[in-house]
Amino acid sequence: MDFRLTTEDRELKERARAFTEQRLLPLELECEENGGLSPESMERARAAVRESGLAAINHAKDDGGLGLDTFQQVLVEEEWGKATNALWDIPWRPSIPLRIGTEAQRQEYLRPACRGERRDAYAITEAGAGSDPTMVETSAVRDGDGWVINGTKWHVTSGDVADFFLVHAHVDGDPNKPTVFLVDKALPGVKLVRTPKYMHTFVFEHPIFSFENVRVPADKVLGEVGQGYELTKEWFVEERLMIGARTVGAATRALDLALEFAKKRVQFGRPIVEHQAIEFMLADMAVELMAAKSMLYRVAWQAARGGVERKELHALASAVKLFCSETAGRVADRAVQIHGGRGYMREQPVERIYRELRVDRIWEGTSEIQRMIIGNELRKRGAGAYTRWPGE
Ligand SMILES: Cc1cc2nc3c(=O)[nH]c(=O)nc-3n(C[C@H](O)[C@H](O)[C@H](O)COP(=O)(O)OP(=O)(O)OC[C@H]3O[C@@H](n4cnc5c(N)ncnc54)[C@H](O)[C@@H]3O)c2cc1C
Repeated sequence: MDFRLTTEDRELKERARAFTEQRLLPLELECEENGGLSPESMERARAAVRESGLAAINHAKDDGGLGLDTFQQVLVEEEWGKATNALWDIPWRPSIPLRIGTEAQRQEYLRPACRGERRDAYAITEAGAGSDPTMVETSAVRDGDGWVINGTKWHVTSGDVADFFLVHAHVDGDPNKPTVFLVDKALPGVKLVRTPKYMHTFVFEHPIFSFENVRVPADKVLGEVGQGYELTKEWFVEERLMIGARTVGAATRALDLALEFAKKRVQFGRPIVEHQAIEFMLADMAVELMAAKSMLYRVAWQAARGGVERKELHALASAVKLFCSETAGRVADRAVQIHGGRGYMREQPVERIYRELRVDRIWEGTSEIQRMIIGNELRKRGAGAYTRWPGE
């Protein structure tokens, strides 16, 4: 087995690292202190995304994307994930289901989104529908040559900067007809309900939007009526792997910072790294992170170059999301502990990492939901689904 990165992969990772260190990290404190970036800083950051050539990394070149495979995307997202305040969300990465749009839809939505001229947000969750999307109450009812959409969506990430939504609705209110609609934010009836504050200081917001008798033409269905759950599932698989990548990146930074701090901080006459309690914490952090990263790279490689089939990938992506997000949470917790009182200060990256990693065990399917998917896979295909090595 040759585990080494190819020259192309290594150069890509280096490029993402340079972008993160030079363009994202300097914006962290401004974002933390002001609850976001000034328009000037945002514009500079967006210009830097273009310069770095790392826009729309997940879409095909034909649609204006970078055409990276899943493994390469993971390499990039791991580096971006080292930045706090979700600055990794500045490089636009249009939702993956947009790729199956008709030629006209891709022309109107996907290609401008890949160019950074438009931005989407994915709206599934509702007050009564979270882990169980069959509880969605947003409905789309046929009316003449179009559809009328009614409902309210929660936690719409980057909804403040998006100009269109992928709205997961039930046609005629029927849970057997989940369907994704392309809805322009400027349409009459699309209303901002409120913009709640969250635990993290995210560079964008997660507002609540209501859709009140919003009329869209017939050609705004993405894919087919009834295909909504399948599309949303495809989005989940991609997002779960990218959460794996970003949490590994964030935890790697937390470990580096904790180690550096422990070597310099002197208490009881010696650097705290020489107290075994601290040294053992660092050892556990490093080993757990090594395991998480090994798993992440293996599954991402299988997805990109190993011919894994879709259903299998769905089950493996859950394992990656579960293990990487939970490992990263433990690593960050110990990084805060090693920093002592300083670790509790918002100006310290470890404090922000600790706070920000919490959501990775909740969004795109909670840890409990990932365990349900894994349990289901075990029942269907046996333990080998997780314990067998590819080709074994
Ligand atoms: C910051 C943030 C951004 C988000 N961005 C988006 C977005 O852009 N678009 C979007 O559509 N959604 C978004 N979400 C929503 C997110 O995906 C949901 O919060 C998540 O799926 C959980 O749903 P819920 O909050 O309704 O919790 P619930 O589903 O109500 O779950 C509550 C608790 O019950 C547990 N639980 C539920 N069912 C079971 C079960 N069968 N067995 C065992 N335990 C169970 C859960 O694990 C959890 O611990 C975002 C959420 C946050 C916090």
